[in-house]
Order: sequence, then C-alpha cells, then structure tokens
Amino acid sequence: MLLNDAEIERYARQVVMPEIGEEGQKKLLSAHVLIVGAGGLGAPVIAGLAGAGVGHLSIIDEDEADITNLNRQFIHNLKSLSQPKSVSAEQFVKGLNPDIRLSCHVARFTEENAKSLIEPCDLVIDCTDNPPTRYLANQICQQLHTPLIFGGAVRTDGQITSFIPGEPNSPCLRCIFPQTELDYDQAPSCANAGILGSTTMVIGGLQTAEAIKIIAGFGTPLVGRLLLYDGLANAFTEIEIAPNPACPVCSL
Ligand SMILES: [Zn+2]
Repeated sequence: MLLNDAEIERYARQVVMPEIGEEGQKKLLSAHVLIVGAGGLGAPVIAGLAGAGVGHLSIIDEDEADITNLNRQFIHNLKSLSQPKSVSAEQFVKGLNPDIRLSCHVARFTEENAKSLIEPCDLVIDCTDNPPTRYLANQICQQLHTPLIFGGAVRTDGQITSFIPGEPNSPCLRCIFPQTELDYDQAPSCANAGILGSTTMVIGGLQTAEAIKIIAGFGTPLVGRLLLYDGLANAFTEIEIAPNPACPVCSL
C-alpha cells in the first residue's frame, strides 16, 4: 500500500483515475512546489494544489490583501484585509487540508532568496504580474533545471505555457518574451485595465492542471505551446513557441 486509509479516502476521486492511481497520488504527496505570488493566479493554484494533496507548498508574496483583490482572490477574505497575503494563504490551506506542509514567506522574491527558495522544489509556478520577478524565476529555474509554469491574466484575456529545462523543444520565458522590462511597464495591469475573477480562475486552473500532470507524469504538458485564452469569445488559440538559439538565458 502506497497510501494510508485517510489518504485513500481524501483523494478518492483522483486515486480512482487510471492516470493517477495510488502511485500518482504518492508522487503528488511527495512533491514540493513553489508558488510565486498569492494573488489572482495564486488563489486557484494554491487551493487546487492543496486540495489535490501536493504535499509541500512554498508560497512567497510580500503584499497585503486589499478589498479590490476580493473579486478574484478567494483565498483571502474580509478578515484578511491588511494582513500579508502569505498569512491568509496559509490560513486558507490549513482550513482546507491541514496535512499539507507549508512554507509561507512574507517577502519579495529577489536575487537574494530566489535560488534558496527554488532549489528544494520540484516545480515552480509563476503567479505574479511583475516582469522582473517573472524573468528572475525563469533564470533560476533554467539554472537549476526546475520546471516552471508561466501564466498571465488581464481583463478577459489570459495565457499559459510550461518551460521544462532539458527538454529539447522547450523554450524559456526570455526566448518568447525578449523585451526589456521598460517595454513591459507599458503593458496593461489589473489595476489600470481591470480583471475578471473568471479569467484568473481559468488560467490558474490550467496552471494547476499542468502542475498535477507534470508531477504525476501523465498527459501532455504545454511545452513549446503558448495557449491563449479569449474570455470574450470563450475561445482558446495555441501558438507554437520554440527555443531561441541566441537566448541569453537558456542557450548557454
Ligand atoms: Zn531561452
């Protein structure tokens, strides 16, 4: 027996799936995932992975929960306002699944802590809306050969892809978005352009699915494919993305 009785009961709806079974569930329970950002994308990702039984979640976010977050960031609530999001994320997970081991950091993801945060993890999920943080997570994941699931959402639009270092057809974030950070400053943000909670739930839900598939080893991850979501039409488009042989991050 790979799982105890309580685990078989709690995760019954996954264990019964032939793609997962006890073996896949054991892999999920043994996995350590870093979630960078406990906001719009982080909320469905944290809830989804804690519910699925990913055994160890590291969460880093320096922000405090704000009333304007609550249209989408359902892991926070009125009692969380003016508390660090990492703290309310921790409380949410403890209420949902107290068996999950948590490492919650009220801090900014920086060059000083990025490597030590990513090194013990099997996988990283980029749930930020901050280009320098995204590029930093990408750079360290490439260095450490750690899979990174990228997601973005604004208004009714979203995008998602997975970067798996070492896979020959896997680009990195720099390969597909080589712009400077200044260019990114012109991009629409949730604060100035708006965001529907359904958009972050779709993209965060897809990031959760990617993580579960990559950890448990089934399905086809979004490697070499950027999936675009158009919430106005409820339509998805897939763009083929390839490694850039001149990429300053992954081609070295
Ligand atoms: Zn690259």
